[in-house]
Amino acid sequence: MILHCPSCKSVRIAASHTGRKVCTSVGTVAGAASAFTAASSGARIGAIAGSFAGPGGAVAGSIAGAIVSGVVGAIAGGTAGAALGDFLDENVLDNFQCLECGHAFSVETD
Ligand SMILES: [Zn+2]
Repeated sequence: MILHCPSCKSVRIAASHTGRKVCTSVGTVAGAASAFTAASSGARIGAIAGSFAGPGGAVAGSIAGAIVSGVVGAIAGGTAGAALGDFLDENVLDNFQCLECGHAFSVETD
């Protein structure tokens, strides 16, 4: 599909993805923040799992559990944010900008 500017009919169109960028950042931060809470329970699970390997295993297990919980939460939040951003870009925001006349517009996707 070739996009045309609704104002000047130019084909020099840029997609901005503003909603995606913003929501991915917000989602990553929100995911990491909620993962921070989950990290303490992750550390507890890791400590229990690691304790089978002795005292050192409990320490290593709690660190690994906290890191895994935090990273997973941040990735999940960022992914959810990106999906929400795509939705906003396609349905709410003016996602495209004409490079000839600067006109911003959105396009309904099939
Ligand atoms: Zn234009």
